[in-house]
Amino acid sequence: MDRSFFDAGELVGVLTTQPLGRVLDYKAPEGGCFAGAFVEVPLGPRRIVGVVWGPGAGDYDYDKVRSVARVLDVAPMRDEMRSFLARAADYTLTPLDAMLRLATRAPGLGDAPGVRRVYRLGSVVPDRMTDARAAVLAVMHEYGGLAFTLQELAAMAGVGTSVVKGMVKLGAVSEKDAPRDTPYPRLDPDHGGKDLTPDQAAGAAVLSAAVASGAYGTTLLKGVTGSGKTEVYLEAVAACLRKGRQALVLLPEIALTGEFLDRVEARFGQRPAEWHSGVTQTERRRCWRMVGQGDAGLVVGARSALFLPFRDLGLIVVDEEHDTSYKQEDGVLYNARDMAVLRAAGCSAQVVLASATPSLESWANVEAGKYARLTLTSRFGPAVMPRMAAIDMRSEDLPGGRWVSPTLRRAMQDRLDKGEQSLVFLNRRGYAPVTLCRACGHQIGCDDCDARMVEHRFLKRLMCHQCGATKPMPTVCPHCKVEGKLSAVGPGVERMGEEVQALFPDARVAVLSSDLYGSARAMKAHIAEIAAGGTDIIIGTQLVAKGHNFPKLTLVGVIDADLGLQGSDLRAAERTFQLMRQVAGRAGRAEAPGEALLQTFQPDHAVIRSIVAGDEEAFWSAEAAERRAAGVPPYGRMAGIVLSATDVQAVFDLGTAMARADGPLRRIGAQVYGPAPAPIARIRGRHRVRLLVKADKAAPLQAALAEWVAQFRLRGDLRMAIDIDPQSF
Ligand code: ADP
Ligand code: ZN
Repeated sequence: MDRSFFDAGELVGVLTTQPLGRVLDYKAPEGGCFAGAFVEVPLGPRRIVGVVWGPGAGDYDYDKVRSVARVLDVAPMRDEMRSFLARAADYTLTPLDAMLRLATRAPGLGDAPGVRRVYRLGSVVPDRMTDARAAVLAVMHEYGGLAFTLQELAAMAGVGTSVVKGMVKLGAVSEKDAPRDTPYPRLDPDHGGKDLTPDQAAGAAVLSAAVASGAYGTTLLKGVTGSGKTEVYLEAVAACLRKGRQALVLLPEIALTGEFLDRVEARFGQRPAEWHSGVTQTERRRCWRMVGQGDAGLVVGARSALFLPFRDLGLIVVDEEHDTSYKQEDGVLYNARDMAVLRAAGCSAQVVLASATPSLESWANVEAGKYARLTLTSRFGPAVMPRMAAIDMRSEDLPGGRWVSPTLRRAMQDRLDKGEQSLVFLNRRGYAPVTLCRACGHQIGCDDCDARMVEHRFLKRLMCHQCGATKPMPTVCPHCKVEGKLSAVGPGVERMGEEVQALFPDARVAVLSSDLYGSARAMKAHIAEIAAGGTDIIIGTQLVAKGHNFPKLTLVGVIDADLGLQGSDLRAAERTFQLMRQVAGRAGRAEAPGEALLQTFQPDHAVIRSIVAGDEEAFWSAEAAERRAAGVPPYGRMAGIVLSATDVQAVFDLGTAMARADGPLRRIGAQVYGPAPAPIARIRGRHRVRLLVKADKAAPLQAALAEWVAQFRLRGDLRMAIDIDPQSF
């Protein structure tokens, strides 16, 4: 990447988004091209998008090499971005072309800029309403004032383009030429700052100075939920904007963006750019292009926003950094938290990892002196952390098929009497996790996965939480064919909703679970209504544990605090500790003090005891000691190799062969465990086995893994996925 411009006819190496496994040689087009230029190149009969990666290799006869077809009218990819992709590919053992696909997920990348025809809501309501027309109107209402292209609008409404055109004639839809890809309005760093507490002001000053220094650094910003971390890191964003650099804030959940965008607008006077799966194609394209031109000062997004082509990125905030949804588990397996650090290090940016319950990884990096640490010790204003207590379920008098203990019930009644909100937490979607035939004992499972089908009474279907397959609820047992004996076993949130409503017939009860909404907008609206106090009792999954503010909430009841502790995963304790503290943190955010009650059958379990005692340091020290002794992350390195195929024998044979040929791993002192059935042994009809590799912290794991797996060819439908730093082990 030392050359920056190539003259016409010079050989350049072009990386394409095709899985070719290498960079291809082309001749630079007329007028030449810059390194990093986005280009279209001929490949066989097609034209594909690529990036000029560097000088060509010159391995072929010059006369036979084809020319770049054209240079696209988008900002060239910077050196920094190219080297980030290369390092990310090395780290995750992913082909570079797959990384480039992540970085070019913008529709219409090669289209000309200029003017395009856009469609908005018109002024006339059609007198003859058809389903198709209603669908078009619904999409437009859903997205407020947004403009769509014809194709986009038709596709989103699931109608033909002629329907939209017909509506234009009627005046129900307006049609206009608009400039493509308008820059985002400038955010004003001095628009609406709050008066910070001394604690917050000190933290903000440290972060702002770090951002102003223009050097790389990572800071763990720790503080209980409601301590004002967001206010503090927004000051770091302000410092970044003042310096004329761009900032990125990553959120773990799209459902949180609405509330967050409002806060950004209050602070900076304008809304920032948004990047996540809920954003329209037009907006995605605009965001991608403007980020590259430097015309988007702040992007709020999901993990994939890390791969946007920022022109000058000065700050990355990873909010709720411990959240497991930062780990991409499909395609390229990466953890956005780690990638944020990798990217920032290469572009002299600051990283802020914010959390009330940091991951053990970040905690260890602070201990090792790699990350700085800032702590906000108390909640903002009068709010204090909730009182925590365990409810010993062994001594509660509760009939079968009921889950709210008398103790929890009394506490809920007390809140109802006072006009305060309660939250009943159960991290299980659906009505019941098991559907059992009382005649033969058969449990209904997914046809394609090693998983039970979960009853979703709201949808009136059974659903597999692995592959998403659904089927109607049968009336006859599929195994013994006896009728009327199928029954729901165990609780899901929908069922808790029933139980709670029966206990408190006059209370306003709402179930909050991601699968109960038709759209992100419907979910946001419901959450806002709940926050405003339109509900007495909220029943929720982990969706409610993340970041929402419910000012009237003063009681959290956890139905099954033991749920996450089952199984052999070494991260189970960490997960449970984080989730329980996070959920408990929902209570008592405003004036009224909160209380969290944990129903458990093992009140003496070390994890449950440390949660109740609120003794974080003790928990983390014990957890760290255990991981250190086991030599697992963050004190050792691990990789998971998941092999899959439709033929179970083929997968195990390959796994066994790999375990035997472990020479490259042994040379770096690493061990292989397995093959063993993967945590989910079958998904979508494919059998899965897993090998786990464990190495010393300092060992060159990636190089050894690459050499090891290169010994094997994947025949038939065998697939291999390499997961560096797996989420469960
Ligand atoms: P966290 O990110 O740590 O959960 P927030 O930044 O969301 O905490 O703060 C919690 C609540 O307190 C929010 O409603 C926020 O607006 C309010 N808040 C925090 N700091 C201040 C401040 N200095 N002045 C006014 N309100 C504040
Ligand atoms: Zn399934």
